[in-house]
Amino acid sequence: MSMLEMEQLQTVRKFFRWYYFNYSEKIKAPESIESREFGYKDFNGSMIRHLSFKSEGEYKAFLVKNVPKSVYYSVAFYSDPTAPMESKGLIKADVAFDIDIKDVSKKIKDNSFWICKNCHTYGTLPAPKSCPSCGSEDLEEVEWVCDECLSDVKDAAITLSDILTEDFGLSRKEISIYFSGNNGYHFYIFNEEMRKLGQQERMEIVEYITMNGFNQSVFYKNVPESGSLINRRKVTIDPNVTVDIRRIFRAPDSLHDESGLAKKEVTSLDLFDPFKEAVVLPEEPIELLVHYMPAIKFRDQTFGPYKKEKVKVPAYIAVYAVLKGIAEFIDNQ
Ligand SMILES: [Zn+2]
Repeated sequence: MSMLEMEQLQTVRKFFRWYYFNYSEKIKAPESIESREFGYKDFNGSMIRHLSFKSEGEYKAFLVKNVPKSVYYSVAFYSDPTAPMESKGLIKADVAFDIDIKDVSKKIKDNSFWICKNCHTYGTLPAPKSCPSCGSEDLEEVEWVCDECLSDVKDAAITLSDILTEDFGLSRKEISIYFSGNNGYHFYIFNEEMRKLGQQERMEIVEYITMNGFNQSVFYKNVPESGSLINRRKVTIDPNVTVDIRRIFRAPDSLHDESGLAKKEVTSLDLFDPFKEAVVLPEEPIELLVHYMPAIKFRDQTFGPYKKEKVKVPAYIAVYAVLKGIAEFIDNQ
């Protein structure tokens, strides 16, 4: 990481600290916090794992004091969460699903672009091997969302929710849905029977949902007969998130390290607007040098497009743009 990037990230960290300090009351800790493994990424880029907290208070104090760039906890419940992986003592694990915009929207590719980290030249994907202006190979691909691709990913989440309730017979109360904090949705199933499932059974669930290599031996009660499978709904999910019981998964209400948006619980998928409800950083105007930013709507207001210009925008836009690698804070704020 360059000096400049380090300085930029220190400013981002200040806003993250503001959030963890001011929103501490609202941050939800996991069920059985003492049996979860926690991990976090700090602002220097290190990943720390195998932590545990005895109480919600201890966890929140940690967030305010350490200000992680991102924080995660295990879907698994362990008898000894700080022990090395092989001796943690697995008790059970939440079943989780991850829907990523890349897998469910074709549109996202059209909006996305590459930008040169050296001279800030940019262009449409696919990115060249090196920058045509300065020759640098340090090019970054920026995933950029619009209303259409956000609605694609939301539709995928609605389909998954329907499959879980209708085909798997889960009640809506057993399903928690979160906006991931960047461009996807996370699901957790809180059902004691399902928490006991092993990797193989979780793989079968993935196969059913994605209709990839699905075999009829699956044991779920409401699975349709083979004839009706042809036109059945399916949705692409990340198989690793569901199958890997020992994974740590982004913590609800924490800030996403690529956007500064919160991983936010969704009560109604139909009504949910991530660029309104997951926006939690301050409104305070910040001076920003934007290299390139296509238009984007936050809290019903459109910002951009900006090209090589100095602008004054709310802190949540500034943090978003800096984390996407397309802008710089002008002063040390
Ligand atoms: Zn360049």
